[in-house]
Amino acid sequence: MSKILSHPLSRLVQSMNESATLRMAQMSRDLNAQGVDVINLSIGEPDFITPAHIREAAKKALDAGYTKYTPVAGLVECREAIVEKFKRDNDLDFNINQIVVSNGAKQTIANLALSLLDEGDEAILFAPYWVSYYEIVRMAGGVPVPVFAGVEQDYKVKPEQVAAAITSRTKFVLFSSPCNPTGSVYNRDELEAIAAVLAPYEHIVIISDEIYEYINFTGSHASIGAVPSVKDRTVTVNGFAKGFAMTGWRIGYMGGPEYLAKACVKIQGQFTSGASAFGQKAAADALRADMTPTWEMRDAFRHRRDICHGLLSQIPGFKVPFPKGAFYFFPDISAVFGTSDGQTPINNADDFSEYLLAKAHVATVSGSAFGADNCFRLSYAASEEELLRAIKRIDTAVRRLK
Ligand code: GLU
Repeated sequence: MSKILSHPLSRLVQSMNESATLRMAQMSRDLNAQGVDVINLSIGEPDFITPAHIREAAKKALDAGYTKYTPVAGLVECREAIVEKFKRDNDLDFNINQIVVSNGAKQTIANLALSLLDEGDEAILFAPYWVSYYEIVRMAGGVPVPVFAGVEQDYKVKPEQVAAAITSRTKFVLFSSPCNPTGSVYNRDELEAIAAVLAPYEHIVIISDEIYEYINFTGSHASIGAVPSVKDRTVTVNGFAKGFAMTGWRIGYMGGPEYLAKACVKIQGQFTSGASAFGQKAAADALRADMTPTWEMRDAFRHRRDICHGLLSQIPGFKVPFPKGAFYFFPDISAVFGTSDGQTPINNADDFSEYLLAKAHVATVSGSAFGADNCFRLSYAASEEELLRAIKRIDTAVRRLK
């Protein structure tokens, strides 16, 4: 019989938090496996399958022998397609040596943090921030410096707040637009104002996570990397998961200064090497193909947002900004703190999210994971029928709180 061993774990892993989005998604899978009818609105994942022409491209790539290692930075043809995409959609000029393809945009961000941060260096995160930014910065030895924007400012950080957070240890500023978890979108003027604050600080790199670029309902997407005063030190991060419904393929990428691309290749070369060859080939084809399926998915998300927003806003105690992109609602529910259904006291967003899972069988994510203790996140990348059922359940559960 083998012995059960338990070795002491590293301080790093002991100090880390598990990803709240992935934990909630797993809890909901587990409950479903036990026969509980949980509606999973926790993870941000399109409910659509990858469009047929992209799946076909991957099958063809496999048959054509795209089964081997690729250069760490990515297949040349994939990086060429990304260079074209950056020019076409974002007015960004890169050559292929400035592009790195990774196993998901999450790895891209980890590569950047590991390339830039020394022990004690600071990373300004616009808060609410995406859950993994915080832990990735800590894993790399850095100090996350959240700059918070609440519901009253549509969760958008103002330039003067950024200015106040800068120190000589600031290495980078990181944010997403369209934003996960809030759905807020920074327009060109707002990005220019933020760039104006950062422009004089040449020691600061800007990391702009644009993974939700194609799920933007405002009609226009702006990239801070296109603002001339900061373009030479901005890294633009993107990926295929959201816009092309390719979450399980794990293909993300960045375009940025060549020295940083080289550093990321060095890091990635020791961790994982290049992303999958046939995945990259299909991804290159996706960027060059007709984008109609992407726009159809975006329109479906917009429709779901429109039908759900009014219903959520009618739930007592919910303040629900109208999201302009991505596929999340991020209600402020601080008004229900201090209530109870007679059994479960709700004193914070964690209590609330756990209450919804236990009593309404709806999986969401507490705002505390995103640096927003008054909020919770609900993904509307689910079918209309599921969303309507989930909102009804949430409504009933909240009305029981007194
Ligand atoms: N970005 C998605 C989310 O926030 C995927 C899950 C994850 O990687 O955390 O739900």
